[in-house]
Amino acid sequence: MRRDALALVATCATLFVGARAQPGGGPGGGGASACANPTQTSNPQLANLRGDVGCTTSASPALTYSHETSETVGGTIATNAHIYGPFDAGFSSSQDGLISNWGCAPTSLAYDALGGLDLGYEHAKLAVVCGVTLPRISGTEWKDLLGQCGGHTGNYHFHWGFECFETKAGTHSPKVGVAGNWNVYGKYENYTGQTYPYLDACGGHFGVTPDSPSTSVYHYHIQMQAPFTIGCHGPNAAGGLVTVAQCKALYSGCSASAITETWGGSTYSYKRDCPCFDANGQNYAASPVELPAIAQAALSPPVTSFPVSSWSCPSPYGVNACTKTVAQVIAASNPSAATCDASAAPANGGAGDCTNSLTSGATCQPTCNTGYTVSGATSCTSGTLAAATCSVSPAPTPSSARSTALAAFGVLFAASVALTA
Ligand SMILES: [Zn+2]
Ligand SMILES: [Zn+2]
Repeated sequence: MRRDALALVATCATLFVGARAQPGGGPGGGGASACANPTQTSNPQLANLRGDVGCTTSASPALTYSHETSETVGGTIATNAHIYGPFDAGFSSSQDGLISNWGCAPTSLAYDALGGLDLGYEHAKLAVVCGVTLPRISGTEWKDLLGQCGGHTGNYHFHWGFECFETKAGTHSPKVGVAGNWNVYGKYENYTGQTYPYLDACGGHFGVTPDSPSTSVYHYHIQMQAPFTIGCHGPNAAGGLVTVAQCKALYSGCSASAITETWGGSTYSYKRDCPCFDANGQNYAASPVELPAIAQAALSPPVTSFPVSSWSCPSPYGVNACTKTVAQVIAASNPSAATCDASAAPANGGAGDCTNSLTSGATCQPTCNTGYTVSGATSCTSGTLAAATCSVSPAPTPSSARSTALAAFGVLFAASVALTA
């Protein structure tokens, strides 16, 4: 234990020096430094690739698991913590203590001297090349590059998640921080209605928020795919949503050639330090597929969100490239002990006897409003929820109406034959 602690101190100090040597770099570890929310003077504006893109504005609730040096069971993460973008500075022998704690051996499998890979790509790659499940839970320890709340290192900084900030109640997720001129919120546009927001290339959209309940404002949401926090500071020069092309124009990394890497039997493309991801989760496509937020915002009235149930990880690197909920990580670590949060009522219905801790293998029954029919029971399988839905109760279909009419005609015909006979 003592040796591990000493190794960790050395690791952080070395990481700090290493990160300072990076062009445009910020602190990557070592002693905690104050967060500085960037000054935003243009729209759009590039975001720091190795430093603060924003800062948190409240302390986290009490943590359930420990991770590295900054997350401890029962502890909290203090307010004004750093919010970083998706990229890290890469791993070297300086982080051997951390890498072996993930279960990765030899540690050199995780080395990447150049950095500029997003945490999702790193997750997907390291899980495969190290042959380990990331993240996973071992006792009270969260084994991963990032802790349960989505941040890491002694100079604690968030890259993703913020799941411990989600209240899982009401409509719009609560505010977690600020990034430049705008607020940052958790991942739900409407928790009760179970929708996620359509987001532009920076990670923002227009709409009302808990802090602006009657006036539509630009604001960011945390999302489960890269860039996870923000890819740039929006909106665009015309005051609208930022397209993938407008984001890419801000970064030299986006005009550089893509690299290719082979792992897990497949070859993947990537552009280091390009935080602009298209609808396919790619930052390297010669012809990016525009994010659906742009077309949805052009509709009248604009459509700002979509059902949670229709989201799937778009990453070309596999599902390990998208963040997992705490419930999913618990399920992967101990499937029989997994529970699902089934407390959200379906649209046009009520929660019924469904609670926030439906055990794996169990079912519960939501209810539907008058005029709606429930699709069946809600079930939980190893932490994955299959929620029942309410659909409009079927009116008599044309074919059944027709056969009813034919049957009536048949009776009449039989009657007339009988009369004639
Ligand atoms: Zn980091
Ligand atoms: Zn929103």
